[in-house]
Amino acid sequence: MKYPCDTVKDLLPLYHDDVCSASSRRIVEEHLSECPACKKTIEKLNNETYTEQLREEKDAVIGHYAKKARRKSLLAGICAALGLTVPILVTLIVDLATSRKLDWFFIVLTGIMTIASPVVVSLTLKKNRALVSMAAATACLYALIAAIGQYASAAYWVPALIITSVTVLFAWLIFITIRYMKVKGMVKAYVSAALALAIPVAITMYVNYFTARALTWSLIVLAGVLLLGCVLAALFAAARVIINNHKKGGRA
Ligand SMILES: [Zn+2]
Repeated sequence: MKYPCDTVKDLLPLYHDDVCSASSRRIVEEHLSECPACKKTIEKLNNETYTEQLREEKDAVIGHYAKKARRKSLLAGICAALGLTVPILVTLIVDLATSRKLDWFFIVLTGIMTIASPVVVSLTLKKNRALVSMAAATACLYALIAAIGQYASAAYWVPALIITSVTVLFAWLIFITIRYMKVKGMVKAYVSAALALAIPVAITMYVNYFTARALTWSLIVLAGVLLLGCVLAALFAAARVIINNHKKGGRA
């Protein structure tokens, strides 16, 4: 061998990328025909390039389908939004024609928006879909409460706002638990279930206190829900054990 391996190894990347001079190329090729170690190195370089190419092609294909899916979802979102303007427009016309002013139109409008906004948002947005859907639904829900409030007595506001806020607060806590808490899936499931069970309890306690100035029967509801929660948690844990055992048995 005319040249030592170290010299050839310095040239190998240039040779691989086909950017070396003709004389360097000759030196490398001569050396490769005699040296198995350097031959292995160049084969490894070729393999890595191949893997990289495969990865790039795969990413391109996935990107293409993701783009296609996004376009479809955007179209569906726009169609849903347009479709929902039909009942809103009909309500607007009927309300104006029958009462000469906008009465219950705003209730229908905010009601439809509360249900539709999460769907439309999640279909049309690219990022942060869950977060924006939740925010949109929350805003529309409060608009609905305000629209109903226009036609309700003064006694409506406090209970309506408190009950809505309690529900919204727990819904957001469940959302944050599932979306952002860095804990195991199981912990998330238990925390979310506990929060979901807390909604009827909190509302019952409030209504009970509001109507009777005491927490009489809401304590019974609380005990019942706690019992139900414990039973559900135990059943859930038992089901997990059975499933895990089944999986282990399947593997053995
Ligand atoms: Zn060599």
